[in-house]
Amino acid sequence: MAVLTRGYPRALVVEAAREALEDARRQIRDGAGRPPILELAAAVAAHVETATRATLRRAINATGVVIHTNLGRAPLSREALAAMQEVGGGYSNLEYDLEAGTRGSRHEHVSGLLERLSGAEAALVVNNNAAAVLLALTGLAHGREVVISRGELVEIGGGFRIPDVLRQSGAELVEVGTTNRTYVADFEAAISERTAMFLRVHTSNFRQLGFVHTPTLAELAVAADARGLLLVDDLGSGSFLDTAPFGLAREPLVQESVSGGANLVCFSGDKLLGGPQAGVIVGRADLIARLKKHPLTRAIRPDKATLAGLGATLVHYVRGEAQDRVPVWRMIAADPDQIEVRAWAVVGMLGSRGTGFGVEDGQSAVGGGSLPGETLPTRLLVGPPGLDAQAAAAALRQMSPPVIARVERDRLVLDLRTVLPEEDEVLARALVGVAECGL
Ligand SMILES: *Cc1c(COP(=O)(O)O)cnc(C)c1O
Repeated sequence: MAVLTRGYPRALVVEAAREALEDARRQIRDGAGRPPILELAAAVAAHVETATRATLRRAINATGVVIHTNLGRAPLSREALAAMQEVGGGYSNLEYDLEAGTRGSRHEHVSGLLERLSGAEAALVVNNNAAAVLLALTGLAHGREVVISRGELVEIGGGFRIPDVLRQSGAELVEVGTTNRTYVADFEAAISERTAMFLRVHTSNFRQLGFVHTPTLAELAVAADARGLLLVDDLGSGSFLDTAPFGLAREPLVQESVSGGANLVCFSGDKLLGGPQAGVIVGRADLIARLKKHPLTRAIRPDKATLAGLGATLVHYVRGEAQDRVPVWRMIAADPDQIEVRAWAVVGMLGSRGTGFGVEDGQSAVGGGSLPGETLPTRLLVGPPGLDAQAAAAALRQMSPPVIARVERDRLVLDLRTVLPEEDEVLARALVGVAECGL
């Protein structure tokens, strides 16, 4: 045991020993007998190992949901990771003007790229899109009224509800229209001398079908402009690339929202943009300048690694290479035939344990508050008929790295669309591990 725990602080080892003894006593009380001393030593070492390991770990996403919030949303491009490592591993010109040798602003590093891509006059990056929306409302509508359609009073998930965010910002919510139908005239009729803004929120995680009407962005822009009001568009995911060529519905484009007349547009860094967690606000220069000076901006500012990763991700779009370099777009663009070839290759790696595994047609989802109900055709790797699918999925989650699979109609299902190609071998090893559990 001294060997197993050498070099660790004494207090940590003592605590691990207490825990191991406690477990052993419980075992004895339950009639399991006294564990041999070597087993006890191994248990102490295991407790030390657990206590000295961060719980946030790399995982393999075999669910087929490309932007999976619970699994960390967008995997980053190689270039974004390299930029984060480069800037994070040393000092940087984060807030330093290299030409003048004086203090600079962290907000300058990605604003040029964002302006070029969106067509907006100015840009500001904060910690996430929830913070971006809160800032826009707090900074520009505190103590005044914000008009929003009843059909857009949405809950995004994780407790982010638009009415709550509005209350938190100190703005007053004025709901107009009905759940399914709102007209620009409803917005116009709600204007008072206290109105600051029209807010549009993309209904990113559900879809309304049937007898539905919402005013277009252009209609809202004209109406807001005529009365000197602001129009803010929360796009949620937002995108610089069109999703339609992939057989999906269209996710609204940031550049269209800007050219369509929104004064400010808010969107996420780690949804369809495919970068690190961030919130982006683009729009009118005078409004962005006001928001930059707001005290809340300091509290929600992005860190250097985020700015480095976001900058490198945006460069992919500027160079026109996003579809090949940004992992979420590579996954969305992946052809079912390629996915099938990889699935059979994984079965091949299983050797004799691959018996009974098959490949079938199925569907992947984009997820993460974008394109609700939209799917992409895929090929699924399906476990053998006799396999206890729930137990196998649980065993896969215990592997290192953990593999997150799906269970459908009592069958283990893996979608390689969301597995990075370099992870295929590790995935195969995890499946062999499960087979060895004898499930
Ligand atoms: C996802 C989403 C948000 C929150 O964005 P985060 O980057 O997760 O903070 C806000 N509004 C809408 C419409 C969204 O879809």
